[in-house]
Amino acid sequence: MIIVGNFKSYLSNKDDAEAVVKAAGKLTTKHKIILAPSFVHLGYVAAKKAGVALAAQDLSIFEGGAHTGEVSADVISNSGASHVIVGHSERRADGETNSIVATKVCQALSAKLKVVLCVGEESRDAHATYLSFITEQIVSALKGIKEADFKNIVIAYEPIWAIGKGSNEAISTDDLEETVLFIKKVLRENFTEKVMKAVKILYGGSVNAENVKSLMVPGLDGFLPGRASSSKETLKALVEAMDA
Ligand code: PEP
Repeated sequence: MIIVGNFKSYLSNKDDAEAVVKAAGKLTTKHKIILAPSFVHLGYVAAKKAGVALAAQDLSIFEGGAHTGEVSADVISNSGASHVIVGHSERRADGETNSIVATKVCQALSAKLKVVLCVGEESRDAHATYLSFITEQIVSALKGIKEADFKNIVIAYEPIWAIGKGSNEAISTDDLEETVLFIKKVLRENFTEKVMKAVKILYGGSVNAENVKSLMVPGLDGFLPGRASSSKETLKALVEAMDA
């Protein structure tokens, strides 16, 4: 499976980020670990050649040039990252629209970065309108993409109501399995069977060592932990629980 650890802004010191990345590099596991430190720590950590793949937590909509404060896809890939998280709910909460997300996906792919596209509803309703919400987030972000590029897309399903909570408040196994199937259906119906098979699907939202095993449902390709990835102890425990 794939584990994309999002450090968010938990680690203020570059040495702490490096320590987690180095510890992850030393884990013996069959899972692929990709860690997303802050922009400022990315190049530093990459230079230490810690043995795990790296991601940025966001990227600019601009290609480069006169855009003060922006971090372009090219800067990210030249800093040693292979992946970038796009459309995280915390970015969307700050005003990132589906259209901005789509632009960022294109920028990332043009710079040969692999995209971890975050989607997920704020809440679930009895009429299941949240399913149309997720569909729109996926289709709008990916509609201009060439079929060959879909192998570079990972979808992280992160229901907002499950983020930052306790172990018991993550999604249920049944609901996760059903949502993974639904996302595959969206990919098949709006794109192609080949696209559906190429795109990996992760789950994020209060994943940790206690609940991860029960969330390893059929069809799921991995996880996007936030808090559990931001210390070497909790990340190691998570990976060991997956391997147990
Ligand atoms: C997240 O925000 O992407 C996330 C999954 O956070 P946490 O694991 O802390 O709930």
